[in-house]
Amino acid sequence: MGVEFMIGFIPNPRPDELIFSVLARYADRLRFPSHRSLLRELFASNRVSTLIDFPCRLDRIANAFPPGSSLNADELIDNQTMLPAHAAFLPAKRVDNLRDAMKRAGGHPIHLLVGHASCRVPVPRYLRYCPLCVVQSDNDFAEVWWHRLHQFPGVIVCPEHACFLEESTVDRLHRDTSNAFPSARTSIATKPPRLLRPQNQFHQMLIRIAENVAWLLAQPAAGGSSESIRFAFISLLRERGFTTCNGRLYRDRLLEVFGAKYSRDYLMSLGSPLETDGEVPWLVRLLHRSRRVQHPIRQILLIDFLGYTTKSFFTDVVGQPKPYRPFGAGPWCCLNPVCNRRRTACIKRMLIRHSFEHKQAIGIFFCPVCGFTYRKLVSEASTDRKRVLDFGPVWRSALKELWSNPRRTIREMEEMLEADSLTIKRHAIKLGCPYPRTLPRR
Ligand SMILES: [Zn+2]
Ligand SMILES: [Zn+2]
Repeated sequence: MGVEFMIGFIPNPRPDELIFSVLARYADRLRFPSHRSLLRELFASNRVSTLIDFPCRLDRIANAFPPGSSLNADELIDNQTMLPAHAAFLPAKRVDNLRDAMKRAGGHPIHLLVGHASCRVPVPRYLRYCPLCVVQSDNDFAEVWWHRLHQFPGVIVCPEHACFLEESTVDRLHRDTSNAFPSARTSIATKPPRLLRPQNQFHQMLIRIAENVAWLLAQPAAGGSSESIRFAFISLLRERGFTTCNGRLYRDRLLEVFGAKYSRDYLMSLGSPLETDGEVPWLVRLLHRSRRVQHPIRQILLIDFLGYTTKSFFTDVVGQPKPYRPFGAGPWCCLNPVCNRRRTACIKRMLIRHSFEHKQAIGIFFCPVCGFTYRKLVSEASTDRKRVLDFGPVWRSALKELWSNPRRTIREMEEMLEADSLTIKRHAIKLGCPYPRTLPRR
């Protein structure tokens, strides 16, 4: 039996259907005598290991669709394989190589090219399905199929139907080549759906993760720049106080807050616990400059942690570096009570420095009119709190004048200069004013 014989028989893929599933439906329909010969025909190989996530020889498979169907290998890659979800985090050159490998012989190097074999994120052992998707597709198309989304590590719910996925009998680890393409129709049981609860935060997180993966899978597989993704992560972490203003990570603070947000069991099921035996935790490594790419599910967790979706992260943040402006765009107000521009936005330039004492950034504001200089912590940005670094010449001459005016009490000076009596006295002495005040008798 040659490939030519099959032309016209391979069914068109359904939405989000794995290539593997298309072939399984085909084998079912044809009652193909031996899956082994199908494997040989289409893949010229008995190996099935990479068939589900990153199938290869797609040029050959694209040619086996009915002549009227305009499907090509690139469309199969974008719509029927896991590559789009991985590609988003890979360099463009590597995605090109992966496309080439999947069109041609592929095989072994594909996993190396994807590059996170060392991540230890396990693939779900059994193929999974959503009982409500099954009902729906059976009604709409009289077909059931294996979805890409449902097989992705970390996706354990169907976001469309808000229910848990169920495991089929298809074991990805122990498959025999005589039944290399078990179809969804023959491998799932009808089960009542286990619905998610809208009030359950863990359930809601699972839906967000699944939606984030679904969005990535729906994009064409295009690589990007891992450096701009890293840059985006760092700048969002900095805005949230997890790094110094120079982007140096507060590792313990991040691990603690992240660990409080995601359940330990869920992270364990993804081979991604935060506690490690002396090894650098994956979450910290993710933020290092490195050629090793980590599994998308880890990146998606960090995106979710930062309050973004994959869509908003890739469209609004990555590649659109925003300057770090914890105090807004300015100009800022002079807070010197005796400056003639007081409380008006006359400060156009400010400096951001990192305070190691407070473990956060500080802004230093200098009034060009009166020389008054103050600083604020980022956490004080929207408050009136400040610390004066230099009162400036205008304030000092006002102090001198008030000091020598016998009608002014210290209490009044405190109010007018917005400083306590000790500060006023200290500055008066520094300025060479007589101390104690030698006031002429009335
Ligand atoms: Zn569903
Ligand atoms: Zn001023």
